[in-house]
Amino acid sequence: MMKKDILSMFPDELKAEIKQFGQPDFRADQITDWLAKGIRSFDQMTNLSKDLIAILNDKYRLYEPEVLEKKTSIDGTVKYLWKLYDGNAVETVIMRYRYGNTVCVSSQVGCRQGCAFCASTIGGLVRNLNASEILDEVVFSQKESGLKISNIVMMGIGEPLDNFDNVVRFLRLVNDPRGINIGMRHITISTCGIIERFGDLSSLGYPVTLSLSLHAPDDETRSRLMPANRSRGIEAIMDGCIKYYEATGRRISFEYAMIRNVNDSDEQAYMLAEKAKKTYAHINLIPLNYVSERDLHPSDPATVKRFKEILESRGVNVTVRRKLGNDVDASCGQLRRRYITAEH
Ligand code: SAH
Repeated sequence: MMKKDILSMFPDELKAEIKQFGQPDFRADQITDWLAKGIRSFDQMTNLSKDLIAILNDKYRLYEPEVLEKKTSIDGTVKYLWKLYDGNAVETVIMRYRYGNTVCVSSQVGCRQGCAFCASTIGGLVRNLNASEILDEVVFSQKESGLKISNIVMMGIGEPLDNFDNVVRFLRLVNDPRGINIGMRHITISTCGIIERFGDLSSLGYPVTLSLSLHAPDDETRSRLMPANRSRGIEAIMDGCIKYYEATGRRISFEYAMIRNVNDSDEQAYMLAEKAKKTYAHINLIPLNYVSERDLHPSDPATVKRFKEILESRGVNVTVRRKLGNDVDASCGQLRRRYITAEH
């Protein structure tokens, strides 16, 4: 039988869990403290009894992610490829900004969404990550790099809203004051537009930022680039964004990867401006990261500039994101892709 994942349990669940072995609550607190310190071996929990350690080793899985690859960019971006307990691999990136370090975490091994520009989805979805595995991307990126993490973006491999329960559990674990204690306001969840989950997310009442990977303001282009659009359509997604904003008071941001001759026309800029105004959204323009498996190219700088000016002329909030970690395959899924292709 598969051992249980103890690190995904909340402190109260852990108490209930070890009660079945006749263990008092303070033992659960001791275990929680070790876990919060980043200890991932029961044998190292030196204040527990030998008997309890034997039970824990027998019934529960505890695993320390192993660094398969680490790359550091000239701009300071650090990228990790982690080996998970079952041999799968996911990526985590630390980006360094003036205001602090942001970690970009994966939420799934692979992805089922099939976006045309994205390397993460090429082999489809392998499995969801557990809450503990997402947590350990943060814990061990911080520990291994020695860089204090202050912000989290769920913009690595996977579609977070396709792994909703584990992602919510992760949010609570990473927010726990005993552990890494990152405030919900410092966390961004990025989605290709799984609007069926927007209500579930807003009803949690967590002040996280929701980011929509929009990438096109018209259904024809967006459905071509992003299969998730085909059954939903931009209008329904915009409605979902407005409802989310009304329920939470938190502005959504739109991610927009600029792709040459695909989504970078003046007409599309005007359409995008209209959508952003209606939803009170902020726009992040990102030049596409070229992925060798895909025949799509980034817009040239002059087009990006013009596109941005059109948006601004319409009173829209827009930021052109700096490209970080270009020299280390920092675009999501690229490192894992290379790893899988080299292996098989
Ligand atoms: N599934 C979620 C989160 C992961 S992707 C989502 O769709 O938002 C994180 C961001 O990187 C998304 O905005 C995604 O569209 C974008 N992205 C993927 N491949 C890219 C590429 N080659 N260049 C630029 N951005 C890319």
